[in-house]
Amino acid sequence: MVERPSILQLRQVTKQFGALTAVDHIDLDVAEGEFFTIVGPSGSGKTTLLRMLAGMESPSAGDILLKGRRINDVPANQRPTCMVFQSLALFPHRSVGQNIEFALKIRGVSPEERRARALFLMRQLRLPEDYYAKSVTKCSGGERQRVALARALAYDPQILFFDEPLSAIDYKLRKTLEKELKDIHRETGKTFMYITHSLEEAMVMSDRIGVMRGGRLVQVGTPHQIYTSPRDKFVSEFMGEVNLIEVRRGANGRVSAAAPAGEFSAPVLPAGFEHGHLVVRPEFMRFLGAAGEAENHLVGRLYNEYALGSRIQYQVRVGEHVFVLERLRQQPFAGHLDQEVLIGWDARDSILVGD
Ligand code: ATP
Repeated sequence: MVERPSILQLRQVTKQFGALTAVDHIDLDVAEGEFFTIVGPSGSGKTTLLRMLAGMESPSAGDILLKGRRINDVPANQRPTCMVFQSLALFPHRSVGQNIEFALKIRGVSPEERRARALFLMRQLRLPEDYYAKSVTKCSGGERQRVALARALAYDPQILFFDEPLSAIDYKLRKTLEKELKDIHRETGKTFMYITHSLEEAMVMSDRIGVMRGGRLVQVGTPHQIYTSPRDKFVSEFMGEVNLIEVRRGANGRVSAAAPAGEFSAPVLPAGFEHGHLVVRPEFMRFLGAAGEAENHLVGRLYNEYALGSRIQYQVRVGEHVFVLERLRQQPFAGHLDQEVLIGWDARDSILVGD
């Protein structure tokens, strides 16, 4: 990715609600034109952070800079930013055109200019011109999303903030809208800042992802970096179903575990590593014909099988521990439930993380 200048800089941004620290000393630079997504579990501070950036809440400490200018005290309606809400917050009894023009109307822009801008945005967002007079209640979910975006883009904001706009939408449409939003991001060239619970959603759309936990930004990186190099157990689990083995430093560069008991080959141990978790994603865990086929192996019992669309997931019990393996549907495992199986993985397909 080409290095782009920062549009938004957060310096030690903190929000206190009484004794509760909802957002805790966040430092972040968002590049111009970037699609940046904040993910985290419920209550981790995502909305509070976004509300401060949009000017709907003021920080208790720290600075927010927009293109180098401190905007802590600039009210929401005077910031060159716009928030797109979960509900999309369209006016139900108005037409597509009236919705898009709303912000321009309250800013006193003439009717001709408003209409020209609305039609331009409708073209950009692939809404047919005759939708201008159509009621938004007669639009599909996807069309309504485009109307909400057109309305947000109407007065040419520099940054668009999205507060879980897709969370209430059914799975299939949401998958379509995620891709559409990514296309719109590319077409408009605007900076998008998006919050969601769903890492899957973040992975599809974002240039970079910031993972929040307990008011802190615990990791920032590209989707690939976060997926392949989570920095701790929390981030690796947040990234989807994983196999985790609690390990300590063992002999000869290996790690040792109590459950399942054994010594395992691991990626190079970081200096000072004493204790942590070995992470193996389900797609890297394999059924073996013989122990020598992988650097690490375990004997277990196949005890469940689930069809996940294009993949099949297998659960294998090793003592008290349950391991998850995934294979493509075209390559199912030829075995039966309750059968003893040998499973394994190579060190390079595992990740060693802190606690
Ligand atoms: P969710 O995903 O459920 O929307 P979130 O990550 O967006 O959660 P926030 O809504 O930012 O989390 O809330 C962070 C913490 O701050 C929570 O403990 C919440 O209860 C608290 N909080 C948020 N707003 C206020 C407020 N106005 N007054 C007091 N506490 C608040």
